[in-house]
Amino acid sequence: LRAWSASCDTVSVGRSWAELRVTLGTEHLDIVSSFLIDAGAPGVEVRESPAGAEVVAYFSGEPPIPALRQLLADLQCAPNGIATRRIDDEAWGETWKHHCRPQRIGDRLYVCPSWEAEGAPPDRVSIIIDPGMAFGTGDHPTTRNCLRLAEDLAGRKPLGRVLDCGTGSGILAIAAAKLGAIAVWAVDTDPVARDITTANGAVNGVVDRLHIADSIDAVAGPFDVILANLFADLLAALAPRFRALLSADGFLICAGFLLGDAGRVEAAFSREGLHLARRIDEDGWVTVALHAGAA
Ligand code: SAH
Repeated sequence: LRAWSASCDTVSVGRSWAELRVTLGTEHLDIVSSFLIDAGAPGVEVRESPAGAEVVAYFSGEPPIPALRQLLADLQCAPNGIATRRIDDEAWGETWKHHCRPQRIGDRLYVCPSWEAEGAPPDRVSIIIDPGMAFGTGDHPTTRNCLRLAEDLAGRKPLGRVLDCGTGSGILAIAAAKLGAIAVWAVDTDPVARDITTANGAVNGVVDRLHIADSIDAVAGPFDVILANLFADLLAALAPRFRALLSADGFLICAGFLLGDAGRVEAAFSREGLHLARRIDEDGWVTVALHAGAA
């Protein structure tokens, strides 16, 4: 069982990464994962086994070990082990490659890196993603389930104008374009992600409909669909902004929060009149489709 949550806003070439591994009981997984993300880990991987669970987090600086020990003490959780090691940038790039196998997602999608593109099944819409160092290979439940909900929505109504806020590799934006969106705005604060999205847009032949921006402030609504695979606090903070950018009948598909945060994220959207239409839970990660129309 694996879960990745990552953004690459702390990636810079030539820096090494620290990998932190914590082995602990499954009951503290959510809180420890959230803590490590809040502490600045752009990547957290969760592995569960009958023997317990392991959380693997990546830090571009020093891992927050004293604060982690304090949290575990506060939780009265005696971890089975805390270990760290350094990974250089090159190995980090290779780490992503291992997580980049071709995948059938939903009923119609196929996500693969370019070196596997020839094997794409003819009956599927293929999305070629060479992730480089941006998050979004389709290997994480949040990405996959955003894709599933986007595919499902595209089967019900035209996607129209789409905003992908936090585009990473561009995977959701490209999928939206390939599922029939008229135009897609892909926003990311990270310049590396924007470059990779531009490259992936070209490989997928969707550049004519793909617009790239560095901030949500740089785009103008209304959008028929907003995709946002971010994290709990940012989603809750952006709720009014998303509402203002959505058309009256628009849908917001979002992910990047754990079960324990679902209540407050959904409440933030509900206050804006965005109501739950679909929800998928996987490995503790929640993905929702919210509708701006009547409840
Ligand atoms: N959409 C991809 C990637 C999600 S990772 C997928 O579903 O797999 C989240 C991305 O959001 C990262 O690339 C990060 O740089 C970006 N991000 C973080 N904060 C942001 C903000 N305030 N505005 C726009 N993008 C942001």
